[in-house]
Amino acid sequence: MSEFEDDYHFDTLAVRAGQVRTAEGEHCEPVFATSSYVFVSAAEAAARFSGEQSGNIYSRFTNPTVRTFEQRLAALEGAASCVATASGMSAILSTCLGLLKSGDHIVSSRSIFGSTTMLFTHYLAKFGIETSFVDLSNISDWTAAIRPETRLLFLETPSNPLTELADIGQLAALAHRHDCLLAVDNCFCTPALQQPISLGADIVIHSATKFLDGQGRCIGGAVLGAKDIVGEHIFGFLRTAGPAMSPFNAWVFLKGLETLSLRMKAHSANALALAQWLEQQSSVKRVFYPGLESHSQHQLAKRQQSGFGGLLSFELNGGIEAGWKLIDATRLISITANLGDTKSTITHPATTTHNRLTPQQREQAGIADGLIRVAVGLEDVEDLKNDLARGMV
Ligand SMILES: *Cc1c(COP(=O)(O)O)cnc(C)c1O
Repeated sequence: MSEFEDDYHFDTLAVRAGQVRTAEGEHCEPVFATSSYVFVSAAEAAARFSGEQSGNIYSRFTNPTVRTFEQRLAALEGAASCVATASGMSAILSTCLGLLKSGDHIVSSRSIFGSTTMLFTHYLAKFGIETSFVDLSNISDWTAAIRPETRLLFLETPSNPLTELADIGQLAALAHRHDCLLAVDNCFCTPALQQPISLGADIVIHSATKFLDGQGRCIGGAVLGAKDIVGEHIFGFLRTAGPAMSPFNAWVFLKGLETLSLRMKAHSANALALAQWLEQQSSVKRVFYPGLESHSQHQLAKRQQSGFGGLLSFELNGGIEAGWKLIDATRLISITANLGDTKSTITHPATTTHNRLTPQQREQAGIADGLIRVAVGLEDVEDLKNDLARGMV
């Protein structure tokens, strides 16, 4: 990041950081749709390939539109380095394969994205990288799981769908006492509401597909952190293995960053109003939202986050039958498992995102049969209340 950018506040960086205007004088960032780059001479080509001269060679390595997105997101997360990836999953894969080797060990929260669990247990395990899963909010569980060969601690906070939190500062201290790195998947808060690096985390991971885009258009991801970790090891893996972000997607995401903080404030306000209303409904047993006074980690959420986000869940008294009835009665909210969109979405976790767990595992994870998750969008909240009220018994 240049000194120029250091002087500005978050909202200014979100709109301006990373843009390099070309000789055409364009106001909006251009899309560089090019796979390769031309050199002025054989000597320049040689210098680029040897690394003696910095500059573009091929868009699997670097691309100006992708770089603008990377620099803008790095400025927002307070990171020295950022690499953009083809998806959130390839951001996690690139982090693991860039940093770990056979025999290394990961300690991960149990409450993480389903595909991440699958990546750890089915694929990394094939190459001798083992993962132990622990309770997100239980620090003694994390401490007990660390072994001499542990290299990485991995988590999402707040968790999905139950909005449990981890104390990032406390886990960073634990990681560093044991010479491990702490990686935080910051998908749900985004840097507009939570900046894990300022709390001590080493690596921040994003699925740009969610709130960074914010309008459900493109798949992408990013890894952020120190230059020697992200700029060398993770970028080294990415440029060789190839899960690079497309320039067009980078352009969509960098325009998304310009409205990120406005959107996250609006998502949070809608979600809080909806959560407070849900708490008053007789067919609702419990509401999970970090912004509610009744949330067991409300104080931690206030300390660690500058807003409570767009994700909430609630448990109905009536089990699966009541859950499906409520979902099927909606006319406005989209029935889809995606999140981080201007359009609100609704899911029944027990029969979709968590359907591979046994009933016993689901009970352990707190995924009740009557649990409903809503990713609250930017519609008028009165219309969202009416839509949910339709199917309540
Ligand atoms: C969606 C998601 C991912 C995966 O991102 P893709 O862009 O779908 O690959 C990873 N982590 C979290 C928390 C997610 O919600």
